[in-house]
Order: sequence, then structure tokens, then C-alpha cells
Amino acid sequence: MDYKAIRKPEAQKMKVMPNLADYEQVSKNFRWEDIHKELDWLPGGFLNKAHECIDRHAKGSRRDKLALLWEGKSGDRETYTFGQLKDETNRFANVLKGMGVVKGDRVFFFMERVPELYIALFGALKVGAIVGPLFSAFGPDPVRDRLLDSGAKVLVTQPDLRRRIAQILPTLPQLKHIIVVNKGQRGPNPLSNGDLSYEALMSDASSSFDIAKTSMYDYSIMHYTSGTTGKPKGAVHRHMAVIQQYATGRWVLDLHEDDIYWCTADPGWVTGTSYGMLAPWSNGITQVIYEGGFRASAWYEMIQKYKVTVWYTAPTAIRMLMKAGDEVPKHYDLSSLRYINSVGEPLNPEAIVWGLPVFNQAIHDNWWQTETGAILIGNYPAMDVRPGSMGKPIPGIEAGILDDNYDQLPHGKEGHLAIRPGWPSMFHTYWGNQELYNSRFRKGWYITGDRARRDESGYFWFVGRTDDVINTAGHLVGPFEVESALIEHPAVAEAGVIGKPDPIAMEVVKAFVSLKDGHEPSEQLRNEIMRFARQKLAAAVAPREIEFVPSLPKTRSGKIMRRLLKARELGLPEGDTSTLEED
Ligand code: ATP
Ligand code: MG
Repeated sequence: MDYKAIRKPEAQKMKVMPNLADYEQVSKNFRWEDIHKELDWLPGGFLNKAHECIDRHAKGSRRDKLALLWEGKSGDRETYTFGQLKDETNRFANVLKGMGVVKGDRVFFFMERVPELYIALFGALKVGAIVGPLFSAFGPDPVRDRLLDSGAKVLVTQPDLRRRIAQILPTLPQLKHIIVVNKGQRGPNPLSNGDLSYEALMSDASSSFDIAKTSMYDYSIMHYTSGTTGKPKGAVHRHMAVIQQYATGRWVLDLHEDDIYWCTADPGWVTGTSYGMLAPWSNGITQVIYEGGFRASAWYEMIQKYKVTVWYTAPTAIRMLMKAGDEVPKHYDLSSLRYINSVGEPLNPEAIVWGLPVFNQAIHDNWWQTETGAILIGNYPAMDVRPGSMGKPIPGIEAGILDDNYDQLPHGKEGHLAIRPGWPSMFHTYWGNQELYNSRFRKGWYITGDRARRDESGYFWFVGRTDDVINTAGHLVGPFEVESALIEHPAVAEAGVIGKPDPIAMEVVKAFVSLKDGHEPSEQLRNEIMRFARQKLAAAVAPREIEFVPSLPKTRSGKIMRRLLKARELGLPEGDTSTLEED
């Protein structure tokens, strides 16, 4: 596919001078120790994410700066300054301390995106607990799996959500306390037997607290992966992850003091904590949190209403905006936006091309994983965007492309995407599964499980997950390339591509396609899309079969679950579907 690079003016001529104005220069001789100095640290060399994100600002010139602009799903609004967040998180830290929560205990959250989630989570970090936010759309089983696996001692939740998981709660021997936040309810907190009221506990708690002496190596957060390729794994991160979350907030999100930042991800997934909490607040930035779900008009309205300047979202959301059509954004003033980022899945070049006139700028793709804790490869404001490429490794990161023996391949070759271990936000284990953790490291590299290639100029191009790559007549085909070509067709909203076993070719490429509003499946359209794909792609790569589907199976974090498409196609067991989004 032939997409022209989107050229950037020189840094000096840009509206805002990018934080990372000279990528090459900063990358040369880079040392993480220099970033360490930009953090505040606790006396004695201790490090705590809550201090870096809240108290540090509250004790300085940002005390009265707005940290959080919250809009609830029914339109209620609340705001919190860094000073207020400090007091509230101190209160919650005292609540937990009073219950005997100590360093290393797991405190989990099953909540909507309400301010109390943010307050309780940072309060728990202050006592040195390991926090675990769970996505609020989960049913009882995925919640039970995660609470059981992590051995959570405290669960913070809300009345409706508590009701949904009532039957599993007695089956969790390590769960000692359930704290219920009465958000979004009229009347008093409808507590069940033995539950504690957040409001009552908070009103009795002091707003002074001495943050636990956590070292940079202490565990701070665990996140279960999205479950796209199999059963979700509990990746555990340390307080030192904030060093990289801070740095990438500056370099990749290009956060500046006066920005209004909106990350659309839920804290149940790693983007919603690393970039919906830690990166913006360690940089002292005001952020918007919207409790409501996706609706194109509501999202455009958020940007307009809050004058969002920097926006971090995901390909699935962008494809849904595309699906809603070009008319909708015309009704909103999106001119405040100065910088847009995307993560979670490959960003189809077509999405960037679509976004150019709508947002008046390129969407910047970046790559990372739950395990990596922060962005490792990204596009930067001062660097040309090559649509379809996830960009270049951040300063301090060495990324390699390896063959099946885990030896490095030259530029232009496809292989395993691997990273030299030792970056600050690297996961430290999979909870309770050190063996699996160890298996991810080979010959001095962390093996990401993704396939990619690097071009002559050092840009990385995502090919597909190792598990999803298709072997057809001796060619290795990445689903991304085929899906991206398909969605260039004006009728196609989304595409998911798999390899279907074939006696001659080993596998053939099969595409599942969902159509944009206003298009109906027909034999004629199928042939037309097939022809279209053949023009765009080499014959061996173009889909042999196309099946129309109303929607694609996705994880709740918005990723296409190709393994489910395949299992269903072949009539095989579906495996773990705990993260499957139900329509
Ligand atoms: P599981 O590990 O449970 O199968 P998952 O890998 O989807 O789930 P996450 O850690 O949330 O869980 O997602 C990381 C993965 O998402 C990456 O390994 C990659 O496959 C994909 N990904 C993220 N960002 C990008 C991107 N910019 N381009 C291409 N792929 C991306
Ligand atoms: Mg993964």
C-alpha cells in the first residue's frame, strides 16, 4: 500500500515546541538516570507513584491547579485540584491503614470511571498496596478469577456492580473487606451484610497521611492482559514504572503545562492507568475523565466542551468514528485538539487519512503492551508520520527484529519484535506464574509475541501477533496488511482476517467484514470487495473468502479477537472468553 509520509514542519515552526524536538539527539547517550532526576522522590530515596502524581504537585505551585475534570454518564460534573486529591487520597489511605492493609496487600477496584476510583486507587498506593482495577462491564466469573488469582484483601465497588457479583463474593477466602461507594445512587448507601460504606469511612478519616516508604522496586499495580490471544495474565509492575510513564507523557503524548488531556481508555486496562492516571498526573497535567461509553456525538462533544488539546484513544474508537460518518464531526468545534495518539491495535493507514481533514492533523500511533507498562515505540510530534508504522523506539529502548532462533534480522525483514530488558516500566512477573514470565525472555531479549519489521530509517511496522500470522503457500501474511486494505473500501467498517486450513496452501486467507451504516451484504458487494483487495494486495495475500458479519468479536478493550473468529470457523472450543465484549 502506498501512503505518503505526512511531513511535519521543523520543530521550531510548530504551534507548540515539542518536548522531544530532536529525537536523534536525545536518543544518543540517553540515560534513564537523567530522568530519575526529574521526579521528586520521597526522603531517603523512596519512590511512590501517588507522591509523584499528586502530593508532589499539591505541595508546590500546582496545588490549586485542576487535576481532574469529571463528567458522569448522566451529565453531572465534578472537578478536583491536585490539593483536593491529596486530601482525599490521604483520607482513603487512612481508611485502609485502619483496616490493617499493609505494603504488598492487594486492593482491587470494580468500579465505573468515577472520581472515587481515582481517589481510592491512589489512596491504596499511598499505603503501599498493590492495586488492581477491574473493568466495570465484567460479569461475575472474570471478577472472581482475578480476585482469586491475586488474593485481593479489599474490594472497592459500587452498589449495582456489587449486586452483579454478589454470588461470587462468599467464595473468596482472602477477601476481607468490601467497601461500597454510593456513587450514582439516590438515598443512603444500600449496604449488604458486612460491607463498609466509603462515605462513612471517609468522613471519619484524617486528611493527613505519611506515604509508605515504598522503594522503586516495590510492586504497585497488577493488570490482567486483554485476553486477545488466550487466558489473561496478571502482569505486575513496580513503582519505578512511573519514571517511564512520566517520560513518555512528555515525549510521546507531548504534554505541556496548559494542556487539557483526555485518555479514553478505562483503568480496567493498562492504558487507562498508565496514561489515564500516571503519565498525565506525574506531569502535573489537567485531565478529563468521561464516565459514559462510546457515542460519536458524545465524544466529539467532550472535545468541544472541555477544549481538549491532547487526546489518546484507540483504533477501534477511531474506526467507530469513521463508521458514524463525516457529517457528525462537522457539528462540533474540534479546533482545540493539537495532538492525537492511538494505541491498542495497529492503526490502519486509512484511519490516519480519514482523520487528516476531520482533526486537521495526523493521528499518531504508538505501540506497547500490558507487560511493557508504558509506550516503547511511538510517533513523535516533531517526526514525519508514515501511515501504517508504529514509529520508532523511545529514547532508552532498543528494539530488535529476530528470527526464529532469536538472532537479529537485518532491516526490511519480518520477524519477532523483541526489546532489550531493563526499561523502568517493565513488568516484573506474571502474578503466580514466574515460569511463563521466564519463558518470555530469550538470548537477552524480551520476546513481545508480536511480529514486525524495521525499515531503513528505523521506523517499525507491525505485521501481526505471532499467533495470528497466516502461512499461505509459503508466504507469511500478517492480518493487519489485509485488514487495512479491506477497510480502504468505502463500504467496509471493520475487518478481521484469519488463516483457514487448506489441504494445498496450508492456510488460505479468510476475511470477516462488517459494513458501514447504509451498506447491505450482497454477492455483488462481496465480489467487488474481493476485486478491490486483489488490486491492493499481492494475489497470495488477498482474501480467498469473505464473510459478512454484523460485528467482529472484540475484547472489552476493543481488540479484534481473531482466535475466536478462527475457533468459530473451525468449530473448535472458544477458550477463555472472559474479556469478550458482548453486543
Ligand atoms: P493477551 O496478551 O492476553 O493476549 P493483549 O496482548 O491484547 O492480550 P494488551 O497487553 O492489552 O493485551 O495488548 C498488547 C498488544 O496489543 C500488543 O502486543 C499488540 O499485539 C497490540 N498492540 C498494541 N498497540 C499496538 C499498535 N500500535 N500497533 C499494533 N499492535 C498493537
Ligand atoms: Mg499480549
